[in-house]
Amino acid sequence: MALKNQYLIDLLQTVKKRNPGEPEFIQAVTEVFETLQPVVEKRPDLVKAGVLDRLVEPERQIMFRVPWVDDNGNVQVNRGFRVQFNSAIGPYKGGIRLHPSVYLGIIKFLGFEQVFKNSLTTLPMGGAKGGSDFDPKGKSDAEVMRFCQSFMTELCKHIGADCDVPAGDIGTGGREIGFMFGQYKRLRNEFTGVLTGKGLTYGGSLARTEATGYGLCYFTKEMLAANGKSFEGKTVVISGSGNVAIYATEKATSFGAKVVALSDSNGYIYDKNGVDLACIKQLKEVERKRIKEYISTHPTAEYHEGCSGIWTIPCDIALPCATQNEINKESAEALVKNGCFAVAEGANMPSTPEAIEVYLKNGLLYGPAKAANAGGVATSGLEMSQNSERLSWTFEEVDKKLHDIMVSIFKACDSAAKEYGMAGNYMAGANIAGFLKVAEAMKAQGCV
Ligand code: NDP
Repeated sequence: MALKNQYLIDLLQTVKKRNPGEPEFIQAVTEVFETLQPVVEKRPDLVKAGVLDRLVEPERQIMFRVPWVDDNGNVQVNRGFRVQFNSAIGPYKGGIRLHPSVYLGIIKFLGFEQVFKNSLTTLPMGGAKGGSDFDPKGKSDAEVMRFCQSFMTELCKHIGADCDVPAGDIGTGGREIGFMFGQYKRLRNEFTGVLTGKGLTYGGSLARTEATGYGLCYFTKEMLAANGKSFEGKTVVISGSGNVAIYATEKATSFGAKVVALSDSNGYIYDKNGVDLACIKQLKEVERKRIKEYISTHPTAEYHEGCSGIWTIPCDIALPCATQNEINKESAEALVKNGCFAVAEGANMPSTPEAIEVYLKNGLLYGPAKAANAGGVATSGLEMSQNSERLSWTFEEVDKKLHDIMVSIFKACDSAAKEYGMAGNYMAGANIAGFLKVAEAMKAQGCV
């Protein structure tokens, strides 16, 4: 979709000039601007209030040194980030990514997306994101702990249960959240819901671990049903084999689909009989091993080096759950050629703009990340509620609330797309519905 509105063209130029060397952030802003054109034309009051001009500039960006000592006694230095993007509708909320590819531009794109996603959940949460270029892979538990403690020693000055509540993301699972929570508690001498994704023994919510993957499948099920389709009997390809991929596999399978492929950053497995999820959980959640180990116990399955080949496997539904820009134009074309009719995103921004164009041109059902993977942060919001009332809800209660939120997100995307003349374009619907709530709140609160 080309950008035709002059105000948005000029504003995008300003964003590009002000944020050099941050292509992922520019990509995220461009996608949102393209779909907001009809809103800008219909709502001059929001333009006059400078809502978009303010929305593309984070409220606060924090960068800091994270020194720690490795097991050999050597000093290591990483860089830490927290970008508090927008607090118009609630305290800042968004995960912490630990991966060597992390730099300011990645955290900004994720924080920007988070603003719209959190708004779609209907819960009162603003948008933020944080992280570090630290790589937990290959580090001992003691090294991970020393890093997390050092990271939190600085981060604790900027967060709080009513101010900014971080959570997990790539590289940040239960182990890392535990170390960070312990350090926060020690430094501030307070036991509050300052992080989500906590362990069940110290304030975590049941179903938070499952939430993003389950929520992705709840959203996808609604999208399929609205178009006369279902998971039943379908072949599904899922990338990644981390938190989101594992629980998407579990839920899609329970909906009657067969998941035939999973991956990690080295390669992918193809098991035409359907992947053995218990084995994947053991390898990834317990032993922290590479996915290629799968074939040592499943000799009829195949392992292939490299990540992009997974999209050449014939499937009906594709659920990218690894990382940004993992599906490019060629991969999208391969999916279409092999008969795939739906793509729903568990990862953040996994499809390049060219790939999205291929989906839309070929009439694929496309569930964008902001909407489809919002179940994780929605359940984090439910964890915050439980922490505030010092109560724990049952798995069934949380799962039911998650399900209802995902259904309402799909409906919001569907009806916003219809209202603005783009029926069936759930990406436009997600951007518009997410934007409007934040925009109204920003306008009401004046020029801040
Ligand atoms: P995990 O760290 O648990 O798993 C990430 C998976 O993706 C791993 O299999 C990893 O492989 C693979 N991966 C990571 N980076 C790359 C890369 N550059 N190329 C190929 N594969 C890669 O993370 P999550 O499952 O939590 O997150 C996955 C995606 O979902 C991310 O985009 C995240 O932002 C998004 N998300 C997560 C939420 C959550 O609640 N966890 C909520 C909403 C979105 P390897 O082990 O080899 O690194």
